[in-house]
Amino acid sequence: MSGLYIHIPFCVRKCLYCDFYSLETMKGPISGRLKAEPEDQNQFLDSLESEFGSAPPEFRPDTVFMGGGTPTELSLSDLRKLMSMIHRMADLSGVTEWTCESNPGTITREKAELLRESGVNRISLGVQSFNQRNLDFLGRIHSPGDVESGFRMLRETGFENINLDIIYGIPGSTASEVEDDIEKIVELGPEHVSCYCLMFEQGTPLTRMLNEGHIRRMADDDELEQYRMIRKLLNKSGYTHYEISNFSVPGMECRHNHLYWGDGEYLGFGPSAHSHWQGIRRGNVRSLKKYINALQSGDSILEFSERLDPEAKARETLVMWLRRLDGVPRNKFAEHTGYDYRDLCSDQIDYFKENGVLEDRDGRLVLTEEGLFVSDAIFSELL
Ligand code: SF4
Repeated sequence: MSGLYIHIPFCVRKCLYCDFYSLETMKGPISGRLKAEPEDQNQFLDSLESEFGSAPPEFRPDTVFMGGGTPTELSLSDLRKLMSMIHRMADLSGVTEWTCESNPGTITREKAELLRESGVNRISLGVQSFNQRNLDFLGRIHSPGDVESGFRMLRETGFENINLDIIYGIPGSTASEVEDDIEKIVELGPEHVSCYCLMFEQGTPLTRMLNEGHIRRMADDDELEQYRMIRKLLNKSGYTHYEISNFSVPGMECRHNHLYWGDGEYLGFGPSAHSHWQGIRRGNVRSLKKYINALQSGDSILEFSERLDPEAKARETLVMWLRRLDGVPRNKFAEHTGYDYRDLCSDQIDYFKENGVLEDRDGRLVLTEEGLFVSDAIFSELL
């Protein structure tokens, strides 16, 4: 299995919590975030086409993921150009899942039809909340009504595989608002739901507001209560919780993300895109200007490139496999990495088991319900 990732670095307006690399296209007051120049989208597509030329001839992806940023922020004609570039860059005959991320407020019927006709068969829609106050807090550009009308339009256009993203742990939000979000999601009936706890990433306006004392984080116990409620309500409604943040109806797990969680190979294109190919991890520069200039002058677009030593690679595999709720089969892990995970970190594993966040289950190492919620802390110890 291998995947193709394409990073589209434009958003109408940067959400206050987001640290993905993208430029704001919205005209208007200086927001403190990076603004796109009028010629950026054209130059980006020309540069992307040139980067596509570096794909190895044997590359035949099984999955495609267009993320960002907001791919559907591109104009209809730019989106058309992008789709034909992708079709020219590799043999796509083996692609079984082709996802495009989108935001309510940027996807029109014309764009949805173009995506569908071009082979996209899965849309991931950033909902985040059905509560206008929470959307305003996050700096989202859309209203709850935009989500519902956008979702219905996508269904009418023929999309039978839709993911909805939501965020919990928003300061000031209540358990009943989260319950309401999940009820609305279940009413819409997407095939897949991703639920993320709000993160305060370095350098974002939300983190600045936190550091300056304008807002306060939600208490850990309240975040945990919201996470538990989401799990309970989605499970009750027929969604399987299969990865820390991801739920799906049976058979509709995201195949592309399995490449990330399962140590698979993928090639990423566009500024800030990452790749894992033939044992090497690499990342492109997080700057559209540097990306364009480097491609024009024949310089490297890489910010880093590394080959992990076998032990570091095995630890990374352990952490990625642990993300799945069915955990890490001890025998399969040893076959895949050449290491028994107990030889890699037995002290940490024992410590986490004693604290009830990891457990052995049928020959597998798995996160407990408590462990799912504190997984980042566990992973940083295991690495
Ligand atoms: S729309 Fe998505 S990628 Fe763009 S700023 Fe908001 S969260 Fe980030």
